[in-house]
Amino acid sequence: MTAVPLGLPGVPARPVAPRRPSRRIQVGPVAVGGGAPVSVQSMTTTRTSDIGATLQQIAELTASGCQIVRVACPTQDDADALATIAEKSRIPVVADIHFQPKYVFAAIEAGCAAVRVNPGNIKKFDDQVKEIARTARDHGTPIRIGVNAGSLDRRLLQKYGRATPEALVESALWEASLFEEHDFRDIKISVKHNDPVVMIEAYRQLAEACDYPLHLGVTEAGPAFQGTIKSAVAFGALLSRGIGDTIRVSLSAPPAEEVKVGIQILQALGLRERRLEIVSCPSCGRAQVDVYKLAEEVTAGLDGMETPLRVAVMGCVVNGPGEAREADLGVASGNGKGQIFVKGEVVRTVPESKIVQTLIEEAMKLAERTSPADQSS
Ligand code: SF4
Repeated sequence: MTAVPLGLPGVPARPVAPRRPSRRIQVGPVAVGGGAPVSVQSMTTTRTSDIGATLQQIAELTASGCQIVRVACPTQDDADALATIAEKSRIPVVADIHFQPKYVFAAIEAGCAAVRVNPGNIKKFDDQVKEIARTARDHGTPIRIGVNAGSLDRRLLQKYGRATPEALVESALWEASLFEEHDFRDIKISVKHNDPVVMIEAYRQLAEACDYPLHLGVTEAGPAFQGTIKSAVAFGALLSRGIGDTIRVSLSAPPAEEVKVGIQILQALGLRERRLEIVSCPSCGRAQVDVYKLAEEVTAGLDGMETPLRVAVMGCVVNGPGEAREADLGVASGNGKGQIFVKGEVVRTVPESKIVQTLIEEAMKLAERTSPADQSS
């Protein structure tokens, strides 16, 4: 069967911005920085010591498209679970260490793909850097210096009065310099703040001041709706300037939701191939169908489709035929009927009750006619 070249959606020929040149590190098999594709990560919400539940959640995250997963390690039982989790996870596992330096060593020894340290709250962290650098180097384990506004080093808080962009950056660069003294540069950095304006400025300054790969995050971004908007705004502002090598959306919601949002942000910026994209109108007084319902039903019906498809769902004939023609697949509704477009041509006109079913059928046909090479391009 002839392969149909689905030109849209796909990655735009021109990226949103040239990526900031940075060092490359390897988090297990996932390259971060140095022009590698921006990766999406999340964090488990289970007790890490509950190995079964943690691996189950990691499997769900993997299925949702998560590329790197972080697990908390607040107790010895959690540290003891790391080796099994790191071995059995299909995606690289990063141990998240606060307060107890001994768990940094435990995580490295356990075979974690990377370790996140929070210098602001690890006891006598600066004195431990030499030994951490040596152990990490011996195991080829990169370190994330994860500075966070909520747990900023007391010295910087005293100096700046609060977690300003300058304070966050100074804290991160100071800790990086301690590792550099031991010739350890297998580092990525984050400087998270819950205010996107402060966070954006911090990352801009950090991007200027070093060439380490950057892990973007708006910390404690909030419930799904608010957190999604904060993260999209902040990541968009930075990634559209080429800043950022891996992202974590922090939501008060199940972690797979964070991954979905992260992937959507990258797709919207053209940094990730667009998969299913629904172009639907907002509806207005001219609408001749229930556009919301139609768009939701089409989205649900095509959920999980791997073939890149742009599907237009339009409420009337004002913009309907134009948008439907530009998409791979579309419907322009009117007078209780829907004109179904495939690759710019009207292929059928169906009653309103058959629109969703027909669009799904036509999408399946397009997917079948699309060669694997087109799908992976
Ligand atoms: S396509 Fe028609 S119904 Fe939808 S917003 Fe435009 S004018 Fe309104």
